[in-house]
Amino acid sequence: MQKQQELYRGKAKTVYFTDNEDFLVLEFRNDTSAFDGEKIEQLDRKGEVNNKFNHFIMTKLEEAGVSTQVEKLLSDTESLVKKLDMIPVECVVRNVAAGSLVKRLGVEEGKDLAPPVFEFFLKNDALHDPMINDYHIASFGWATEAQIAAMKKATFEVNGILKDLFDKAGLILVDYKLEFGVDAAGNLVLGDEFTPDGCRLWDKETRKKMDKDRFRQGLGSVVETYIEVAQRLGVSLDTI
Ligand code: ADP
Ligand code: UDP
Repeated sequence: MQKQQELYRGKAKTVYFTDNEDFLVLEFRNDTSAFDGEKIEQLDRKGEVNNKFNHFIMTKLEEAGVSTQVEKLLSDTESLVKKLDMIPVECVVRNVAAGSLVKRLGVEEGKDLAPPVFEFFLKNDALHDPMINDYHIASFGWATEAQIAAMKKATFEVNGILKDLFDKAGLILVDYKLEFGVDAAGNLVLGDEFTPDGCRLWDKETRKKMDKDRFRQGLGSVVETYIEVAQRLGVSLDTI
């Protein structure tokens, strides 16, 4: 598989065409951004750790029956993935109150949410990713009713699988964001990434933050902590 010209350069990843129109290369860069790109830093090894972390999680999900983009690891920072027509919404599930939910509703950080909360956000940096609901998505044609239902179902399936996986590694899956797309055959497929950049993970015993909140809140040891999470899960960080 030959990597070809750049398709898109996002805040943390660069996407390349390949010589096969059904596949893309995702390159995970060291760039780390928060607050809609207001805070940006280069964190040594972050691209490598996130690439391997994402491949590990997507493979686990695929094995558990979730349709994902996963194909194979190509290098320390690059993965081959299925090319998807991305749906411009973010699907968030929250098991514990944190982040924007706490600010928006004035609830206490750390409150267990039973049942878990599901939220949709529009992927639009200029508008600061506003929260939307099913009606906005259907009405503006961002996804069909069937795709909306399928995104919710898959996002909750992922919750069941990953809550358990992280629990066994001594971690609480507080919340996370997923992005879906449609493959060449018209199937809804999980795309983008699942890494500590796009979820919240707390140590079960100490409640230490082990995700991108370390960067957002200036807590330090960002990549070192991602590596600790990877090691607890059994993600191989060997050179490829
Ligand atoms: P952002 O666009 O939010 O700055 P990234 O830097 O992570 O984010 O850029 C990656 C881009 O690639 C995102 O726009 C994402 O929707 C898109 N993408 C992720 N996975 C796939 C895929 N499998 N097929 C096509 N596009 C994808
Ligand atoms: N998230 C993300 N990208 C976004 C917005 C949120 O990956 O553009 C993730 C975030 O890391 C967290 C979850 O989605 O795990 C919920 O985020 P929240 O709405 O609390 O927003 P935040 O306070 O993180 O901006």
